[in-house]
Amino acid sequence: MDSPIDPASSLNAARRARELRHAAEERLDVLVVGLGVTGAGAALDAASRGLSVAAIDAHDLAFGTSRWSSKLVHGGLRYLARGQVGVAHESAVERGILLRRTAPHLVKAHPYLLPLTPGVSRAQEALVLAGYRVGDGLRAAARTPRHLLPGPSRLDAARARRLAPFLEPDGLRGGLLSWDGRLVDDARLVVAVARTAAAHGARVLTRCRALELTGHGARVRDELTGEEFEIRARAVVNATGVWAGGLDPRVRLRPSRGTHLVLRPGTVPGLAAGLHLPVPGERNRFALLLPQADGRAYVGLTDEPVDGPVPDVPDVPEEDVRALLDVLNAALGTPVRREAVAGAYAGLRPLLAASGRPRGTGSTAGVASTGGRTSDLSRRHAVLFGDGLVTVVGGKLTTYRRMAQDAVDRAVAEARLTAGPCRTARIPLAGAPGAGRARRAGRRAEGGDLPARLVERYGSEAAAVHDLVRAHPEEVGLGITKGELLWSVLHEGALDESDLLDRRTRIGLVPEDREAALPAARDTLG
Ligand SMILES: Cc1cc2nc3c(=O)[nH]c(=O)nc-3n(C[C@H](O)[C@H](O)[C@H](O)COP(=O)(O)OP(=O)(O)OC[C@H]3O[C@@H](n4cnc5c(N)ncnc54)[C@H](O)[C@@H]3O)c2cc1C
Repeated sequence: MDSPIDPASSLNAARRARELRHAAEERLDVLVVGLGVTGAGAALDAASRGLSVAAIDAHDLAFGTSRWSSKLVHGGLRYLARGQVGVAHESAVERGILLRRTAPHLVKAHPYLLPLTPGVSRAQEALVLAGYRVGDGLRAAARTPRHLLPGPSRLDAARARRLAPFLEPDGLRGGLLSWDGRLVDDARLVVAVARTAAAHGARVLTRCRALELTGHGARVRDELTGEEFEIRARAVVNATGVWAGGLDPRVRLRPSRGTHLVLRPGTVPGLAAGLHLPVPGERNRFALLLPQADGRAYVGLTDEPVDGPVPDVPDVPEEDVRALLDVLNAALGTPVRREAVAGAYAGLRPLLAASGRPRGTGSTAGVASTGGRTSDLSRRHAVLFGDGLVTVVGGKLTTYRRMAQDAVDRAVAEARLTAGPCRTARIPLAGAPGAGRARRAGRRAEGGDLPARLVERYGSEAAAVHDLVRAHPEEVGLGITKGELLWSVLHEGALDESDLLDRRTRIGLVPEDREAALPAARDTLG
């Protein structure tokens, strides 16, 4: 019988062990270091051009900043507001590629509401609505059809409260509705990109730390055994995000902490849109309240410069929690209490802090000047290169594909590799319609006999996941079953309980949920 998924995309412990041996023996075209969205994207880009590739991560897929995002797939409006027309257009184009071709199962159009509370002046209302219309123009310029991403509109108070019933009705004039892209789960995007890279022949190796990099390879430590060895390559792409400066001294970063709160299910009942909440005292800054498919809601986000060594997992200080609750409560009818905050997470933005233009900066490079607030620094990406070592840093989740393309273009040029052109704008990611052998399963998924939650998270592989769920229906939390954990072990490269609870699922965002699910995760791995 045909496998319901493309077996070449399956990542698991046995494949890791096998491919690790090969990676240590051969001389590759490209070694990618870091398996966040950028590194996974670079591995897919290089492998799909016919290059031999290994991609390593010190921890796991999506261990770093890529799992701490707001999960927005931006159309680039905010960049336009700052006069960065090129970045804005690039974002809108990449959003369209994800929505239409590469990840329609993971990226969906989502409504966002700006409630017109007394704190939002009429002048501000007119300005924001005009901005939304420009954003709709960006959508059109990027050729994303309106049926995939509806245009903006102004709602009266009753319709605004239908999307957010808990809004204080007194003084509410209505709301401004806009649409943008939204990921069901940022870590799942990384897993899908990494598996697609594997399907194109990339060796995807987690728990492998680069200790030192040159343009010809890396000294690597297998974090499971402690064994050290060399991986040799003709070009090296450093995609280690906020840690990039530790491996490439040309890179200077000024990280900024972005914190989100995780609200317990039921805290903001009936919320059917993301809310933009004006930050009191600031003219054009908004916080976000984001409903999640699992019933939780996130509130974000802060933007605070961080100095000193970069931690593996950033802590959330209590002042971030208080500050976000204050913004939220200034906009809501019923205050959200501290007890409703079930968890919190922070990510570090890898913002460039180089003064001047580093040597070898690529054409799409954005180099922010030092000094200003981190929220004012550029969100563009930079490609730094020289002697075969290419570092790609900055940017955002939305534009990962373009970042990867720029990095691999540069690696090909640096090492004079023979490679085809970039193809990733047309390659459906694992789980997308048309990806590998998943097509057959996809027809079943579209047949409508599968749980919606599985289709939303696994796309055309939902039927295969469902088979495992039926065999292992025990619930481990948030409606997730043991069958799904098993899927992650067999096909998504999960090696331990943290991979399962903190990245393949997001149960671990709430410490008590994590604790409750631990025995099931251990049992699955056993
Ligand atoms: C709070 C917050 C919210 C955001 N929200 C959005 C959003 O809504 N939409 C959007 O488009 N963008 C968003 N972004 C930006 C986006 O998340 C990042 O730009 C992107 O995830 C960076 O990905 P990356 O792969 O470059 O880095 P990372 O995801 O950090 O990956 C780097 C990887 O390198 C590995 N690594 C480090 N050192 C080594 C080593 N020595 N050897 C091997 N591996 C190593 C790490 O384990 C890690 O997995 C947000 C960022 C933050 C901080």
